[in-house]
Order: sequence, then structure tokens, then C-alpha cells
Amino acid sequence: MEVDALIVGGGPVGLSLAIAFKQHGLRAVVLEKETTEVQDWSKAYTYRLDVRGLACMERIGLLSDFASKGVKQVGFHVKVWKPDGSCMEKSAAGMGSLGYTMQRPTMIKILESCLSPGDVVRGALTDINFDGKAIVQVILKDGTESHITASMVFGCDGRHSRVREILQKIDSEFTMSSVGTPSTGFVYKAMLYRPPQNVDPKCIYRIVSMSGFTLLMFPHDGPPGEPRPLQMAQAPSHRLHSFQAPSDLIDFLRAEFPQLEVDKHLDIASAEAWCNTRGTAFPRAQWCKRASAEVSGVPVALLGDALHCFPPDLGQGINAGLVDVCCLLDLFPSDVSNKDAMRAAFKAYEACAVKEAEAICRLIPVGFPYQYQQPFSLSKFLFMSSFLIRMVASKLLPTLFFDPVVVNIQADPPLLYSEILRRHQQVSGRLLLCSGVFMAVCAASWKRFRI
Ligand SMILES: Cc1cc2nc3c(=O)[nH]c(=O)nc-3n(C[C@H](O)[C@H](O)[C@H](O)COP(=O)(O)OP(=O)(O)OC[C@H]3O[C@@H](n4cnc5c(N)ncnc54)[C@H](O)[C@@H]3O)c2cc1C
Repeated sequence: MEVDALIVGGGPVGLSLAIAFKQHGLRAVVLEKETTEVQDWSKAYTYRLDVRGLACMERIGLLSDFASKGVKQVGFHVKVWKPDGSCMEKSAAGMGSLGYTMQRPTMIKILESCLSPGDVVRGALTDINFDGKAIVQVILKDGTESHITASMVFGCDGRHSRVREILQKIDSEFTMSSVGTPSTGFVYKAMLYRPPQNVDPKCIYRIVSMSGFTLLMFPHDGPPGEPRPLQMAQAPSHRLHSFQAPSDLIDFLRAEFPQLEVDKHLDIASAEAWCNTRGTAFPRAQWCKRASAEVSGVPVALLGDALHCFPPDLGQGINAGLVDVCCLLDLFPSDVSNKDAMRAAFKAYEACAVKEAEAICRLIPVGFPYQYQQPFSLSKFLFMSSFLIRMVASKLLPTLFFDPVVVNIQADPPLLYSEILRRHQQVSGRLLLCSGVFMAVCAASWKRFRI
């Protein structure tokens, strides 16, 4: 098979890019190693497309599909579902722009339906030989070996990107830089729960246990009563991660969450899936120092989690990936046979994408990283104090102090991640200066008072 563009990875980023390339008239193929059916809900997240992601969907003509199949929310409205069965609504409507929530399988289905069946090849990339063209070695789903010849390669193959690994062997600059965050190492797991009919599919539910920890149910893109993921992100040592037998898990849920009525609404297969999966660990926030290269005349670029990945504290995983897609499309030349224009486009993409990738990764530890019920610690106390000070300062003196990261990330029209980081750093500097001045005034007053 010979194509213009081979896109490795059929996640949301790879599929969106393939749709855009098809619209450009390019022969593009997506290589995806997994099938579409979800086996493990601990690896199928709930995405919230905010203004960034929606801009990409609009660009590829899919905004109306997302609007009709996703759950629309402006701001964040949460129902707190207590053990006694009562519900209390909490809302932070001012802190959120427009967003559409949908489970990953629905999103993948929508995107794949825009491509022809032959556009997605089920198989795993093993290696690439570059020689004027990319000769891509593939192991197909049925176990046979094959190859695809491509003029360009796009690595959209997620956090353990094979394309990035191959590039790294050619150029050591394709390494990841990383920063730790307070949620790094937390384990995410989900199970399918069939809620009672009166549970609103369009709402976020925070389900509180007898001992005070919580499970989350994000808005679901199906009708009331349809199974939806019940999810948790907690330290690996958390009791709920420890069960090996589904019956023990169900006993525990029955005692801790009487409001869930697990005997009626949770089937044994879901409990079994929870016990059998290792879940997904939140990574360190990490970005690659390079986003594109020309290898033996073949342009290669990295997008999405292959370029940057981080814990989902700010809900930006999917949105940051779709920003990469838009950035590449903005720069992509109309004449793909023009080698100079292509080279310039890939260079410009790298300059922009790496800067934004680093910025979003640096925003994660300072955004809102203590939302997973972490125990009290000095760093948690310092973060919460700093957050409150920033919030109050931005309300009292908006010309001097910008909003905190978690508010700025939801700004509509959206701000670049690098701009949000710049604002955060500027506020830090100004607060430091203010506290210096305050201490100097206190010291001077104290001296005067003593004299
Ligand atoms: C625990 C957890 C929770 C998350 N929750 C959220 C959330 O709530 N909201 C949010 O926006 N983001 C969340 N994210 C991040 C989000 O999942 C990613 O940012 C997003 O899926 C990136 O899309 P992508 O297309 O770049 O990569 P992926 O979605 O990872 O897709 C990559 C694809 O490449 C395929 N692939 C990999 N290697 C090969 C190969 N060698 N050959 C062929 N195919 C290959 C994979 O099968 C996969 O389908 C979460 C991440 C984690 C770890």
C-alpha cells in the first residue's frame, strides 16, 4: 500500500488529522493497533471538548455531530450524591466555558464514521525505514507482517509512542522532559454502572462514601438508565484498588455506598473487570523537545499524547492534542509536492507545538492538582493558600493580577497555554513583590514604634 500520509494511532488526534487530510485531498491512512470495542473502561476516559477541541471539530466539519451526540455543559455543575440517597447541587458555572462531554468510544465512533473502511488499518507499527519514502513495518491484527509506504508520517500513537522511539534512535533530541505533579502515580479505574432511571445522564455526580471518599460519574452521552462509567482516581494503595475477587468489591461498595444499591445496579462482569484491570496510572507531565524532523527526505511529526502527556487535572489531554491538529493544519501548505514549503511548515509546527506542549505541562502542577482528595500536607496547604490569594487578588485588582490558571484555562476565546503560563508567572512575581513591600513596611513600622 502506498499513501501520502501515514498516521500512526487512531485515537481522537490521529482520526481528526486523517479526516482533515482527506478533506485536503491527500491519500491518508490511519494505523491503529486496537479494535473499537471497549474491553476495559479503565482505559476509555470521558472527554470534555472545550473551546479548543470544539474549534478543531468545527474546522473538520463535525461540530454539529458533537453538539448532537455530546452532553453540553457551560461551567461545571456537580450533584453531590450522599450515602443517605439525598443529592445536593453545586455549581461553579462562572469557571467554565462551553464544553461537550462524551465517552471516548462514542468520539472514536463519530470520527471513524467519517472515514472509509479501508482508511483505518488494524495493526501495530513495529519499525520504519527511511529512504526518500517511509517504509513502515506493520504487524496486522491477524498476526501477518505487512508494510505501508508513505511520503509523510505522523506519530499520533499516544504516550508510549513508537514513532517517537524510532525518531529518538535517529536524533537523541527526541527525548521527553518532565515535571512531577501531586497527582502523578494516582491510578484511574472505571466500572460500568447501570444507574436508576432518576439519575440524570447529563450531570456530573460526585458520589460520597460512608467514610468520605468519592467516586465520580461524568455526563453520559446515552439515555437515562444506560450503563455509564463509575470512576475513581486514587493513590495505588487505596482500598478500592486492592480487591481481587468481585464479591469482595461488591461487599465493600454495598457497605460504603448504600445509595448506589450495587446489588441491583452493578453486574458481576463490571466488578470482575475492575478487579482484573491494573487501571491507568497518571503520568508525570512530560513533553518532547522536538515535534518534527525530516528523515532522509521524509517529513515526520508528533501530535497529541505522543508529544505531550500529563494527568487530566485540567481536562486538557484531548484539547491539547486537537490544538496540535489545528496548528499543523494552519501551517500545512496547499501544494504538498512543494518540498521547501513542506519543510518550512514542519519547522514552524515544531516551534509552535513544542512551546505549547511545554507550557501545558508546566501548568499542570500549578493548575488544580489537589482535586483527588489527597491527604493534608504542607504542599497542599501552600497550594490552596496561594490559590485563594490569587483568586482574591484577581477579583480586587484585576488590572494588576490575572485570574488563576484554572479560570484562565476556560477563557473563551481560549488563551494559548504559553500565555496562561506567562500570566501565572507574572502574578507570582507581583505577589512576591507585594509581600516584600508589605514586610518592609511592617519592619519599618515596627522600628518606628519601638523608638
Ligand atoms: C488515566 C487517564 C485519564 C485521562 N482522562 C482524561 C480526561 O478526562 N479528559 C481528557 O481530555 N483527557 C484525559 N486523559 C488524556 C487523554 O486520554 C489523552 O490526552 C488523549 O486520549 C490523547 O489522544 P491521542 O489521540 O493523542 O492519543 P491516544 O488516545 O492515546 O491514542 C493513541 C492511539 O495510538 C494507538 N497506538 C499506540 N501505539 C501504536 C502502534 N505502535 N501502532 C499502531 N497504533 C498504536 C493506540 O492504540 C491508541 O488508540 C487521560 C489520560 C489518562 C492516562
